[in-house]
Amino acid sequence: MKVTLNTNEEVVKAVQEGLKQTGGYCPCRRERTPETKCMCKEFRDQIKDENFEGYCHCYLYYKSK
Ligand code: SF4
Repeated sequence: MKVTLNTNEEVVKAVQEGLKQTGGYCPCRRERTPETKCMCKEFRDQIKDENFEGYCHCYLYYKSK
């Protein structure tokens, strides 16, 4: 299992800029809760899921099996 940044630097820059503006909360979501703080619960659960491979909701990270 490996988690890496998206290799598309433009996407990474845009999401990181969004994270800066929200104070670390997921820029793709409206709710500001502990579950939407990056890395959000959704992605943490996807990391734990041995069958999941793919990007997080914002395309910042990629998890490979
Ligand atoms: S979807 Fe990605 S960028 Fe957004 S909070 Fe989750 S891990 Fe962070």
